[in-house]
Amino acid sequence: MNSTPEKTNLLGFSKAKMEAFFESIGEKKFRAIQVVKWIHQQGVEDFDEMTNLGKALRAKLKEVAKICEPEVVYQDYSEDGTRKWAIKVDGGSLVETVLIPEGDRATLCVSSQVGCSLDCSFCSTGKQGFNRNLTAAEVIGQLRVAIKSFGPIDPKGPRRVTNVVMMGMGEPLMNFEAVVDAMSLMMEDNAYGLSKRRVTLSTAGLVPAIDKLSEQLDVSLALSLHAPNDALRNELVPLNKRYPIKEVKAACLRYLDRLNDKRVITIEYTMIDGVNDSPELARELVGLLKDLPCKLNLIPFNPFPNSGYKRSKKQAIDYFKEITSRSGIVTTVRTTRGEDIDAACGQLVGQVDDRTRRSQKYIPVVQEVISK
Ligand code: SAH
Repeated sequence: MNSTPEKTNLLGFSKAKMEAFFESIGEKKFRAIQVVKWIHQQGVEDFDEMTNLGKALRAKLKEVAKICEPEVVYQDYSEDGTRKWAIKVDGGSLVETVLIPEGDRATLCVSSQVGCSLDCSFCSTGKQGFNRNLTAAEVIGQLRVAIKSFGPIDPKGPRRVTNVVMMGMGEPLMNFEAVVDAMSLMMEDNAYGLSKRRVTLSTAGLVPAIDKLSEQLDVSLALSLHAPNDALRNELVPLNKRYPIKEVKAACLRYLDRLNDKRVITIEYTMIDGVNDSPELARELVGLLKDLPCKLNLIPFNPFPNSGYKRSKKQAIDYFKEITSRSGIVTTVRTTRGEDIDAACGQLVGQVDDRTRRSQKYIPVVQEVISK
């Protein structure tokens, strides 16, 4: 028996990759934009609905290609409006995506890997180790799932997701190509058309990849700093031993330089009780950041079982913020959202534990569909 060749999934193809694909099957390049528009602006998954393509081309596409979204296995909507999905990726693993609405904005926190290899001491994703990189289709698929949770994709309807942050599971720069392809679709006018200021990649500081990123995309950049000196950062973010603070800071400055507009780096600083939240460290941080255009985002540590850490006391966070703000650094404290559904930073572990399963709000999608 002849085995049929695997069909190419077009969902994660950037405009450039789509053009290359159409050329490879002997078709005109301009078809690529038409198909990108059908898939991402119109939400179409069936080639037969792509009415500006000839019948023969549609038949050919059906033979060799498919548009295949990752499967949602669980969804959970929090009382505060936060929505979380567990998405099953090839191989059976689960990754999580979280949508956080706030006023007229809605920020989607997207995962880039199953697990993570960086093993930051305060992050539960790191504790499960690294499984694999997500494909570009699985990354952009998360945005689609979030948008479609409000109904079929409608280019004339309200924008359901206004911001994307690559702050879910994984280190996005360790999955470079897929993340760049997916983020380029997020910002592509013929696809989701999000503003480059509202699409942010967060990294623990992979220096060579920060430089490479600036050659390919102009997304906004966030750096997970968490400590103002190498001794402490080595403990919290082991990657620091390879790329110490001075090098990471220099890479951030180069990145801003190449952006050529007035953007700043977002510095993320998880506040851990008695570890990195003292006034002395706040002052040291001010010294470190004074010549880096940035804003500081303090994230109260989100506890998880056996982490060995506690969240900083409110008083400590307030005082830390006062020191940095007074020195002229715009400082915000991230409000913790979606705690009732374990959707907060560092709580995404990609597995549905018993407690979650027992929670009545965490309805398996399959079951929900059946009961409708
Ligand atoms: N690997 C990327 C993106 C994933 S983490 C990075 O390091 O930036 C997204 C943010 O959540 C990071 O700043 C991370 O340090 C933070 N974070 C991880 N675990 C956390 C926890 N338990 N509590 C609070 N913030 C956490």
